[in-house]
Amino acid sequence: MDGWHLRMRSDSVLRPEPSVLGPSGWASFILILVVGAACTTVPVTGRSQLMLVSQQEEAQMGAAAFQQLARDESGKGRMVSAERDPALHQRIRGVGDRIIRAAGLQNAYAWEYLIVRSSEVNAAAIAGGKIIVYTGILPVAAGDAGLATVLGHEVGHVLAHHTGERLSQAGLTEAALGATAAALSGGTGGGAGAQTAMAVFGLGAQYGILLPYARAQESEADHIGLILMAKAGYDPHEAVNLWHRMEQQGGSSPPAFLSTHPSHGTRIAQLTEWMGDAWKYYQDPHLPLPGTR
Ligand SMILES: [Zn+2]
Repeated sequence: MDGWHLRMRSDSVLRPEPSVLGPSGWASFILILVVGAACTTVPVTGRSQLMLVSQQEEAQMGAAAFQQLARDESGKGRMVSAERDPALHQRIRGVGDRIIRAAGLQNAYAWEYLIVRSSEVNAAAIAGGKIIVYTGILPVAAGDAGLATVLGHEVGHVLAHHTGERLSQAGLTEAALGATAAALSGGTGGGAGAQTAMAVFGLGAQYGILLPYARAQESEADHIGLILMAKAGYDPHEAVNLWHRMEQQGGSSPPAFLSTHPSHGTRIAQLTEWMGDAWKYYQDPHLPLPGTR
């Protein structure tokens, strides 16, 4: 449900009788309406979040940023096409599609995959239905359950509309979004607007800027991702092993994927706390996800 829809509904359903409130009462009531209209609820965790952009705007921005990234990677000759490596595409799509179905997002977007040949230990899923996998993450992911952990976390960000929330928090709404989308689709690539958009989508590392998700969003993506991988049929205990392997990649220059995420100890403690819930979804994949349709 997007903010605009919520605002219209609040306006018509919640308007009180005029006699109930004095002028100051009305002011408080209007304030509650405005703040309430700008908030949505995150599926699975039930957290309330600031949302000043519609899901359509968020998806449009994601699609534009994805096209820009695909152009850039193609220009560098790093894009691994389905023709070049059909087995790799089949494997990543196989796992990704199961996670997307578990999230109930299979019809929400036209999903596309971009595989980039790079030593970077990284992956992303962005609003608008785009998944990016850097081949450097594959040895760390090891098996399909490890890959499901990574993609579950990333699709968790999408399901929770973390990008829309970041855009809202950064005040990047409407006019700014339109200008940035235009800059992206123009294919110039070097504009400040395009670079900001890439940063907002977590794709800015190659441009030297990265706007990390908030710590709370990272923990939330871990939580949702754990449930998604379990519901998709992957043993959620494998998530703990994946993050251990990821941590071992650390040393002096930890992977970008890791540096913007919660500390390892916190992450493992939280996963352990959510494991019982995840296990229920592993045993019964038909259990509905709270807060989704
Ligand atoms: Zn993340």
